Amino acid sequence: MHFEFATATRIVFGEGKAAILPELARSFGAHPLVVTGASKERAAALVSTLAAETFSVPGEPTVELVRAGAQRVQDAGCDVVIAMGGGSAIDAGKAIAAIATNGGEPLEFLEVVGKGRALTVPPLPFIAVPTTAGTGSEVTRNAVLGSAEPGVKASLRSPLMLPRVALVDPELTYGLRSSATAYTGLDALTQLIEPYVSARANPLVDALCVSGMERAAGALRRAFHDGADREARRDMSLASLCGGLALANAGLGVVHGFAAPLGGQWKAPHGALCAALLPHGMAANVAALRARAPQHPALQRYAAIARLLTGRDHAAAEDGIAWVRVLCAELNIPALRTWGIAAADLPAIVEKAARASSMQANPLPLTGDELLAVLAAAW
Ligand SMILES: [Zn+2]
Repeated sequence: MHFEFATATRIVFGEGKAAILPELARSFGAHPLVVTGASKERAAALVSTLAAETFSVPGEPTVELVRAGAQRVQDAGCDVVIAMGGGSAIDAGKAIAAIATNGGEPLEFLEVVGKGRALTVPPLPFIAVPTTAGTGSEVTRNAVLGSAEPGVKASLRSPLMLPRVALVDPELTYGLRSSATAYTGLDALTQLIEPYVSARANPLVDALCVSGMERAAGALRRAFHDGADREARRDMSLASLCGGLALANAGLGVVHGFAAPLGGQWKAPHGALCAALLPHGMAANVAALRARAPQHPALQRYAAIARLLTGRDHAAAEDGIAWVRVLCAELNIPALRTWGIAAADLPAIVEKAARASSMQANPLPLTGDELLAVLAAAW
């Protein structure tokens, strides 16, 4: 057996831990840039305590926005970047910290759609403070960026981009509205299922995925129906963290392979896209494994997922898929067409998805027809 598992992020977890942020930031620099989502409210106290610059990310991050943020860092002489928000703010902050020291055009560093140029200079120290529980971006080494031009999303990725500190305070997620809880929570679940069946899974990733799935299976419904359920919020923050560590070390699969081109072309929350695709991606993989590779270890893993999610000792792979379908219905996950995607768009999406980096970690290659069937079922 051979594997690697890397993280160099210091993880600080706990209710009320956001209170140490000013002191933590000062240990890295004197003049922070605080990156937030559309609303700067939650970061207001931090910004005034630190006399920090602010930069807001109103939607999913793009190369254009990262270029503007890096310029802002240089103009204001910032020496540390803190992102307080959902995955979009954290990915934007991570990329801004990297481009600020490396210079150049963000697109040149993007994989798949860009030139995939490697970062050579360490980014500014970066502190990630998630206010949602889903993306796990606080512990990953990539930032997913959209670009107006190629109309696709791709990653800026480098081991140098791992956040220096992930400060995960579940209290910051208490006010998350139910739709965002559903979308980000199902993204977390997807990011626990896909690395677990990935061709690159390893025993450390397995431990994280199992622990995360157990927590998410019980907590996601509860957090959705009662946002003030402290235990459920804590479990979802932990599940998200486990998913981030797992995907950073084992990759993802078909669901995220589709989420990249879809999110690049249509304005839809990443988690909503993953949620709509998840049961159909699982079903396609299980069917393809049964048909073409019945001895493949991923089949056993889908059965283990079903046992974890349903809590039933004799659950089969299909029971896990059914459980996810029921959960998506209960959490009001909209079909893909809700976001303006037309039936005529589907074949072109399949072509782009086949090239996405996440697709390479799927347990087995799916045919074009199988991919189209996943998309049509989620549409
Ligand atoms: Zn995701």
